[in-house]
Amino acid sequence: MGWATSHPPDPAGVATCIQCGLCLPSCPTFRLTGREDQSPRGRLTAMAAVADGAELDDTVAHILDTCLGCRACEAACPSMVPYGELIEAARVETAAVSGSRVRRSLLSNVLPSKGLLGTASLAARVAQGLGSWVVPGSLRTGFEGLRPLAGRPDRFKGGTWEPEGEAVATVGLLTGCVMDEWFRTVHEATVAVLVAAGYRVVAPEEQTCCGALSAHDGDRDTALDLAERNAPVFEGFDFIVSNSAGCGAHLEGYGHLVDGGESVADRSLDVNELVARSIADGRLPAFEGAELVAMQDPCHLRHAQRVVDEPRAVVRAAGYEPVEIDPAGICCGAAGTYSILHPGTSEELGRRKADQVRSSKAAIVASANPGCELQLRAHLAGDARVAHPVELYAESLSASGYRPGR
Ligand code: SF4
Ligand code: SF4
Repeated sequence: MGWATSHPPDPAGVATCIQCGLCLPSCPTFRLTGREDQSPRGRLTAMAAVADGAELDDTVAHILDTCLGCRACEAACPSMVPYGELIEAARVETAAVSGSRVRRSLLSNVLPSKGLLGTASLAARVAQGLGSWVVPGSLRTGFEGLRPLAGRPDRFKGGTWEPEGEAVATVGLLTGCVMDEWFRTVHEATVAVLVAAGYRVVAPEEQTCCGALSAHDGDRDTALDLAERNAPVFEGFDFIVSNSAGCGAHLEGYGHLVDGGESVADRSLDVNELVARSIADGRLPAFEGAELVAMQDPCHLRHAQRVVDEPRAVVRAAGYEPVEIDPAGICCGAAGTYSILHPGTSEELGRRKADQVRSSKAAIVASANPGCELQLRAHLAGDARVAHPVELYAESLSASGYRPGR
């Protein structure tokens, strides 16, 4: 009995949990159910039990698989339990024994593939044309989220963009898979703002999916393969910038995955960090304004990367008034493939997040992660515009006619 593979959760990491329970109020699945086995402490207890020889049966797999991987517990933990690493390792184990392996494998293989993702986009457009009544229930929310994107033109293309004058540094832009295909405008805004700030921006054509979703879904081999392909592609850049919180958090974990990954992790930044830094340095202007923007913190930005102030600084400099909607930063329920694998929990969390946005009276909600954006679009159903903070800043920059150095 015990774990099924040779890469189980690190027992030393599991042992750092002192069972204090301080993380419980931060955990979305505990808040929804009130059940210990749906809490971080309960999941760590389950990991310790399996390490001690308990069977990794369907009940234990369910306890571990229903975790959103939001890492809110990690941010709340006084004992610095490395929960994100532990649950990722546990997912490799549950994928090895549970019946969801085929479904996970499908997801892990579709997302890194531009061709297959293009087909998925086409499917979304066709489903949109036919009407949501033909779409299976568990996918309906996802297709609703895609609705505003379905008419978008071709995917973002790689390239190099030069600033006016000498570049302050060279940025390698991770264009990703979902972002690349469905959030082209976020990439365009990222390039425009970073070039205006004086950066040379390169989006290498050879890059591939970062592997975050594969890692979250227990497909360690695919995650490793993708990280090994990306690490050399991003050699030589001063910064590696992501505008997707989930990808950025995963890049910061490359050091644990592959040779050369440490270098990727050290240079990895979320775009909000670099833009906020450029505004503070005076290389980008700040605009005045009072329109409200509700701030939605993607878990992998707030809890994993601990980037909280920077998106607010970017939104404020874009000429808006940031509004707090959720001081606890509870997950919106998107969580990568979670919305497909656990639609009930995902729907409830998405509904609650949309209600928080509506209560704020803001006509715009800012989010810096594609999964969260899709979830918000689906649950807000047009009640508020959903935009990346850097998109809002790029719009203000463009409207002002700003030219660097003039
Ligand atoms: S994970 Fe951290 S906060 Fe939660 S019970 Fe263990 S030690 Fe306490
Ligand atoms: S990662 Fe999120 S859902 Fe999972 S145990 Fe921690 S707080 Fe709960």
